[in-house]
Amino acid sequence: MHLLVVEDDARLSRLLKRLLGQDRHVVETAMTAEEGLEIATSGLELDAVILDVGLPDRSGFEVARTLRKQGSAVPILMLTARDSVNDRVEGLDAGADDYLVKPFAYEELLARLRALGRRPPARKSTALKAGPIELDETTRRVTVLGKPVELSQREFSILECLLRRPGQVLSRDQLLDYAWPYGVALTPNTVEAYIHLLREKLGAEAAAHVETVRGVGYRLREA
Ligand code: CA
Repeated sequence: MHLLVVEDDARLSRLLKRLLGQDRHVVETAMTAEEGLEIATSGLELDAVILDVGLPDRSGFEVARTLRKQGSAVPILMLTARDSVNDRVEGLDAGADDYLVKPFAYEELLARLRALGRRPPARKSTALKAGPIELDETTRRVTVLGKPVELSQREFSILECLLRRPGQVLSRDQLLDYAWPYGVALTPNTVEAYIHLLREKLGAEAAAHVETVRGVGYRLREA
């Protein structure tokens, strides 16, 4: 899933990013309500927002209300500090889909996210496409113009990460987090090397869709 974590507790935010990354979720983080709203309304296709109630600038309730007012239907999981009926009611009134009381077990968070993910009709096709490239997340097969391409696990992960966010620039660090979720000590140069291999295996026509954005990272061109 592509997730946004709005949480001002830096330790918890980092922990969630790391754990969710290990479970193959792509995670954006925001430390303030304003930053969270900015990311949530930037055109990203988010599958869920994990939203803390207590934020430094505005409350999570306000963030949820603002998102709903703007017509966003993104599933929102609220993190509340106390298990108070008021908080729960206010959260649900504000447009949250579910809530979790801190401190929570990570497994519980995952279970709630899965439940949220099931709510809207899930995407039927698991194929991600861009130009001649097609990647099936279920069978883990990649084809270019219908012809199968053999990729290593890492190459597959990098391509998958890019295909999930077409048109967006992904930094080398973001790709590292996604393809090497267990925090192996690697440098961004590793990503460069894998992108090189990936392009070679995809062939010139497909490789042209994997664009280098100088000094920033990579972007997948859709058309
Ligand atoms: Ca907080």
